[in-house]
Amino acid sequence: MSTTLSAQHQPLLAKAQQAQKNAHAPYSHFKVGAALIDNTTQTHSGCNVENAAYPLGQCAEATAIGMMVVNGGNLIREILIASPNDDFCPPCGGCRQKIAEFADKNTLVHMVTQQGEIKTVLFSELLPFAFGFDKD
Ligand SMILES: [Zn+2]
Repeated sequence: MSTTLSAQHQPLLAKAQQAQKNAHAPYSHFKVGAALIDNTTQTHSGCNVENAAYPLGQCAEATAIGMMVVNGGNLIREILIASPNDDFCPPCGGCRQKIAEFADKNTLVHMVTQQGEIKTVLFSELLPFAFGFDKD
């Protein structure tokens, strides 16, 4: 279900959009920002970091997860992905597996368009039967 952005999402969205501005996307020109709240209530953000050797590029979600781990978090409560256009930017397959490593059954994924439309789903809806995803 997609709805309009509410005030409760503004802090995460602001962090994701700040990171999005710094995305290194000289090849795709598709700048993505992500921000998450972890089990310590800290927020962490990330952007995509592309590379001339394309497969070495890293998605925004992966960058945010790395920042969380650096700062001692180990569980994602909510993660928000800010799209650079009017379409939602759901996590790619690889990022779904990366999120699964740090998600539980209550983890939420918010996808936000450039226009501010938001779609929220449970992580478990994005990757049913995930490998290694057995946390309560
Ligand atoms: Zn990805």
